Amino acid sequence: MRIDTKFDLGAVVHLIRQGRREEWVVCVFCNGEGMIAGANGDYGNCPKCYGRKGHTEYHETKWFIEERLTLGQVSVTIQTRNTDGEPSIYTNYGKRAGSRTENYMAYETGIGSGSIYYAPDLFATTEDAEAECERRNEASDE
Ligand SMILES: [Zn+2]
Repeated sequence: MRIDTKFDLGAVVHLIRQGRREEWVVCVFCNGEGMIAGANGDYGNCPKCYGRKGHTEYHETKWFIEERLTLGQVSVTIQTRNTDGEPSIYTNYGKRAGSRTENYMAYETGIGSGSIYYAPDLFATTEDAEAECERRNEASDE
């Protein structure tokens, strides 16, 4: 079996990432007080926000080029469609992969231990990375 990968080790690539905006949402049950008065006048933690007075909501925003990375590790996992050891029913066409994942690690963020990047989020050129950001942003506007 021969496995081809999107990039070679040592390749310098562009990582694209989706932005995230945080929004603080005040608890409406206690009106942001964090405490609720009981029938006897004593106060206890609000049962909805547990005294935290609200919660943070995360909203996904635009895709953008985050940084350039130098690849130092590649992991490819290819799994057959069937997991019981039996060959696929499509044996006339060879074994069919049920799933394929390709991940990379980079010198800038750690090899062996550190951040893991997915092949579909990495691009060889700035132009390709920008084009994919535009495509994903347009898709999410719909
Ligand atoms: Zn509350």
